[in-house]
Amino acid sequence: MQQSLDAIIVGAGMAGIYAVYHLRRLGLSVRLFEAGSSVGGTWYWNRYPGARVDIESMEYSYAFSEELQQEWEWSERYAGQAELARYFEFVTDRFDLRRHMQFDTRVDAARYDEAADEWVVETSDGGTHRARFCVMTTGLLSAPNKPDIPGLESFAGAVYHTGLWPKEKVDFTGQRVGVVGTGSSAVQAIPLIAAEAALLTVFQRTPAYAVPLRNHPMPDEYQRKVKADYAEWRRKERHESFGGWVAVHYAPVEPVTTLALDATPEARQALYEDRWRNGGLALYNVYPDVYVNREANETLAEFVRGKIRERVQDPATAALLTPDYPILMKRLIADTNYYETYNRDNVSLVDVSRQPIERITPGGVMVGGQEYACDSLVLATGYDAMTGALTRMHIEGRNGALITGHWAQRARTYLGLMCAGFPNLFIIDAVGSPSVVFQPVFVAEEQINWVGDCIRQLHASGRRCIEAAASAEDAWGEECERALQATLFPTVNSWYVGANIAGKSHMGLIYLGGMAEYRRWMSDEAAHAYPGFVFDGGRGAQASAAPVPQEAVRSVG
Ligand SMILES: Cc1cc2nc3c(=O)[nH]c(=O)nc-3n(C[C@H](O)[C@H](O)[C@H](O)COP(=O)(O)OP(=O)(O)OC[C@H]3O[C@@H](n4cnc5c(N)ncnc54)[C@H](O)[C@@H]3O)c2cc1C
Repeated sequence: MQQSLDAIIVGAGMAGIYAVYHLRRLGLSVRLFEAGSSVGGTWYWNRYPGARVDIESMEYSYAFSEELQQEWEWSERYAGQAELARYFEFVTDRFDLRRHMQFDTRVDAARYDEAADEWVVETSDGGTHRARFCVMTTGLLSAPNKPDIPGLESFAGAVYHTGLWPKEKVDFTGQRVGVVGTGSSAVQAIPLIAAEAALLTVFQRTPAYAVPLRNHPMPDEYQRKVKADYAEWRRKERHESFGGWVAVHYAPVEPVTTLALDATPEARQALYEDRWRNGGLALYNVYPDVYVNREANETLAEFVRGKIRERVQDPATAALLTPDYPILMKRLIADTNYYETYNRDNVSLVDVSRQPIERITPGGVMVGGQEYACDSLVLATGYDAMTGALTRMHIEGRNGALITGHWAQRARTYLGLMCAGFPNLFIIDAVGSPSVVFQPVFVAEEQINWVGDCIRQLHASGRRCIEAAASAEDAWGEECERALQATLFPTVNSWYVGANIAGKSHMGLIYLGGMAEYRRWMSDEAAHAYPGFVFDGGRGAQASAAPVPQEAVRSVG
């Protein structure tokens, strides 16, 4: 048994890297465990062809260090996986964080030892580690969803999951390849696989809305311009945007405040065309009623459907690729030549919405009694999103309560940060937080800063542990539900509401109230002595009415 640490951090994605940096800066002793062989998380695992970020590189990056912002040079408007992985390696070494990290080590279990007020963490190398705080930076899309298709194990060729892609290049030259799924990863990978394979068959259950990303090399002049005024860009992202990014086509855009249903068809078309030309997530910045009114949403959905019909030559294939559900209620996918790929002679689309895949045979995929011959299979079947990384661990809080039990009906958290009955266990950038509807690097920085402050306050006030109050969890659940129900999100089956995993209860897994509102909740908690939390299991005095004065807050350790 090793000496007890202040904090154990699980997962070395962008959130875990910053957690090590920040908590160490506060004087805490920290140790991070990561299942992969290095840092990067999403950008370590997802090496499939075409993996690329959809928020501009200059914004999908850390804001905590001005020196770092100035030093790092991005080569593309939207960085690809390899460059993002290099960036996270660079940050880790730049701040000498690697010595606090242990790779190739999965955390199997975390149990709360109530007598000692400590977490006891068991790792895949047989180790047992103790810490007062446990910070779960395990990711919202990091638990790959392997489909339960009969016969999958019998397939004679190679099977790849996009989220567990091999480190060496996979060469599909001359092969017949089957891709199962048409979500974000598939949309990115399909054009590149098609360019290599002899034959590509895509098995689609639900068509996606994709819009052109329009990636290209980073113009030096633009990079210089942002760097000259980075603090102001970051301020705008934090305070003046809904999604945490402000650049569209290298220029900040003003939010649209008028309504789609009040606009003339010509004005709507002009706005949508402008966003379309800009590319990527620009289409999120449209009329606000598109998010809440089906008829308004339909104006944008029909605009994008028209673009799909223009991009795909065969009308029957275009019809299959055209979604009929509201747009923007699943993550909009930013593509590069996705629809055009279906105009190639070596690519075909098989609809498995009404007639699902019957089984996988040694030689291919069987649908409707017909076998589609494949030499390799690519499973682009997504993730057990938001909760999967945590529920796949044995997490045991007070009185033997398991996180799987706590979340059996719905994933209960307060602010997406803590759970009742799981003291000193912090969750970052996942269920119940703005996570993926906001720029995730920011969410992680904000939450980890909050965790650091919380630990300092705890220390300064002589308390040992903090957890969410059950009543605050209830209230937060209602708040998330209220924000969700005000939109069209519940009308669409997506991983945002847990619909992609069989048996998972359908619910709002994301806080949709916006980052500004979320920050207000977090700062209110800190400023008013954490009214939504319970200290020391309710054993000692509850929070004092007044916050602990900042001058009384010292570094821990
Ligand atoms: C293919 C893909 C593309 C994406 N593209 C975008 C995008 O374009 N824009 C965007 O905003 N977001 C995107 N995302 C979301 C992305 O996950 C976040 O942007 C961000 O990278 C999450 O960082 P994180 O540190 O919170 O988690 P992750 O990067 O997921 O890191 C979590 C880490 O925890 C580790 N881990 C989990 N469980 C354990 C355990 N029990 N023991 C040890 N280690 C564990 C994992 O191995 C992983 O390395 C994408 C996600 C995926 C999967």
